[in-house]
Amino acid sequence: MYEDFARKLAATMWGDYDETPDRTTDTPAITQIDTLVVDGNFPWSIVTLETDTGVRGIGEAYPAPGVHEIITDYLRPVLVGENPLDVERLYHLMRESLSGRGSQQGIATIAISGVELALWDVTGKILNQPVYQLLGGKMREEICVYADCHGGESMVDAALEGQSSETYQPEAYAVAAREAVEDGYDMIKFDLDVPSGREIQTKARHLTAPEIDHKRRLVEAVAEEVEDEAEYAFDLHWNFSPESAKRLCEAIEAYNPMWIEDPLPPENTEAMTRLAEAVDVPILTGENRYGRHGFRDLLEAGAVDFVAPDVPKTGGIAETKKIADLADSYYCALTPHNIGSPVATLAGVHVGAAVSNFFALEFHAREISWWDDLLVREEPLIQDGRIEVPDGPGLGIELDWDVLEEHRKD
Ligand code: MG
Repeated sequence: MYEDFARKLAATMWGDYDETPDRTTDTPAITQIDTLVVDGNFPWSIVTLETDTGVRGIGEAYPAPGVHEIITDYLRPVLVGENPLDVERLYHLMRESLSGRGSQQGIATIAISGVELALWDVTGKILNQPVYQLLGGKMREEICVYADCHGGESMVDAALEGQSSETYQPEAYAVAAREAVEDGYDMIKFDLDVPSGREIQTKARHLTAPEIDHKRRLVEAVAEEVEDEAEYAFDLHWNFSPESAKRLCEAIEAYNPMWIEDPLPPENTEAMTRLAEAVDVPILTGENRYGRHGFRDLLEAGAVDFVAPDVPKTGGIAETKKIADLADSYYCALTPHNIGSPVATLAGVHVGAAVSNFFALEFHAREISWWDDLLVREEPLIQDGRIEVPDGPGLGIELDWDVLEEHRKD
């Protein structure tokens, strides 16, 4: 049985994880864990966690292949029968049960994150408390949300669909910026790793002078359109070399971007440190880093100004709070990456509510007209670029299962 193996492994490596704490007849127990996928602008992996109390928790894992199998084949046997209120212990149990299979980062961590969100939701519902309260209480009543905008096809969609030949125009960026501001957002973000028609060797990570000027004109168009009304950031999706990123940052620093995101590939902290020391544009990174250990070297080196862990990817709600606290000791702000459904978004809201150094949460689904229909509530969740922190138990939301079913993917 995998369950026995995982427990023996955890006990051997980390001590007594196989000893279930004292139970009373009132101690709740996990009875089932499953996943389903909603066909959003990404495949949103919703996690359901049932207990013998009749209370069900909802979580979400970052879109990734294999998440369903890891949760149902590996994590479910380890967790069924456990007390869902022991979130911290179960997080460690999940990590150690997959310790030889890469639970330090990557897809195993993503699967664990999805379950962790559901554990917090069910714990809050059983204890009749919102998750932020269980994390120490709320520092703020509402969460700032920044809008991901596209002046042309999203580069993520383009990459997924294998078409990125469109040339991106400053006019389209200005129009998209204006639309987002009219929707109430005062923080917006655009992809800047977009085709200019002047690329020579994109795989060499080098930007030609005309490419840099094309990007400068995109930034200029956004700034001229909304600079009195909104802050704007730009995402480079790990595509460039330090020298190219430096020249690009120098070209756009006069427009005062809020940050430049992921200018370099994600693995080399030393390269990012050298870039951070050389430029006057704040740097954001972190959606490809896992857990507090994945952020420690960046923060120690001074390579980053904003940390952007993805809550249902980096380890979950508690791990994101730990990353935020670590970042706060370097006076860096938390800006969670988020491409998820309302479930992942609410997870970010509760962490953001509970930590002092929260700055803004990403919203990446403005084009999904039924995003709010997934929730049982009268008003849209995001209003004027803000989410009021919900006071209901758990994540504080109820999903509309009929709408979910309508958009369910096989
Ligand atoms: Mg990004």
